[in-house]
Amino acid sequence: MSENNVINEVNNKQPHLSENFVKIIARDELSHSYLFNGESGVGKLALALFITMGIFCPNRNNGYPCGKCNECRRITEQQHPDVVIIKPDGQSIKVDQVRYLKDEFSKSGLEGNKKVFIIQSAEKMTSGAANSLLKFIEEPGNNIFSFLLTTNMNLILPTIISRTQVIKFPNLDSGSFEEELSKLGIRNSQLYLVNKLTNSTEVVKKWQDDDWLSKMQNSIGVWFDLIVKNDAEAFVTIQSNIIPLVIDKNHREPIINMMIAAFEDVLNYKYLKADQFSFPNNEKNIKTLASNISSITLVRVLELILGCNKQLSINVSFQNILESITLQIMNLLDQ
Ligand SMILES: [Zn+2]
Repeated sequence: MSENNVINEVNNKQPHLSENFVKIIARDELSHSYLFNGESGVGKLALALFITMGIFCPNRNNGYPCGKCNECRRITEQQHPDVVIIKPDGQSIKVDQVRYLKDEFSKSGLEGNKKVFIIQSAEKMTSGAANSLLKFIEEPGNNIFSFLLTTNMNLILPTIISRTQVIKFPNLDSGSFEEELSKLGIRNSQLYLVNKLTNSTEVVKKWQDDDWLSKMQNSIGVWFDLIVKNDAEAFVTIQSNIIPLVIDKNHREPIINMMIAAFEDVLNYKYLKADQFSFPNNEKNIKTLASNISSITLVRVLELILGCNKQLSINVSFQNILESITLQIMNLLDQ
């Protein structure tokens, strides 16, 4: 293991991409503008810093930065005077921020110094900022390199995309993703569920606000247990336990997907004798239901819940949707 954090991060998260860039640097074939597209947490900033070290490091060896010299250290700590990193100021990247960057760079361009700029969350550039940047990346000057980082390329102006080389970052392999999740405080009992619901650490970060994820996992677990016991209280838990946790619209889909995950636990145990559960605390009732339910009924239950995602787009209250499927599932299980 290197003692340099950035090098460790790219080696862990994006070994293939970093290997490719090392070769490109060694051949002196680096493009001037890159657009890094990928989920948050996949190592976009780390790779941009790694390449930047490759540009500046005086001890570079076959494209590899040393990771230890003054240049490498300052880049790692994001303190290098010729490496400017811009991120959203509030909700957006404003035209003033891009202007500042252009001023900085036009000064140094004259002196012939190398300069790198990195724009994080580039999709958050206002159109003014994006247009201002456009002229700049068109004729960057020989010693200027730019990296635009984004989680959503659909929100980037096509005129910007066409002037950059786009690098698509693969999602982390499950081991590295789980490492990221545990850094965010995801417990082992939640890993299997979270892996099913998302591959974005940004999304998980939001779910950790106010412990939302474990509260919701508990509430769905309670709901599921009551359904298995054919207890009509299941209907009541929608209003009392689940709806209060729907703080914004983004919470609706994961709730439905958690309900699906609970019944997939039943399916996986019934047919595969799987020993990993999205709802490990409900293992007993998962197994009970798996041995009592017919495969036709189980498929119907899953279809019912899957149908909810479609209903979200029409104008029905979320509470009504969940109450209605609760009744329908209980009817099915009762037969
Ligand atoms: Zn170095």
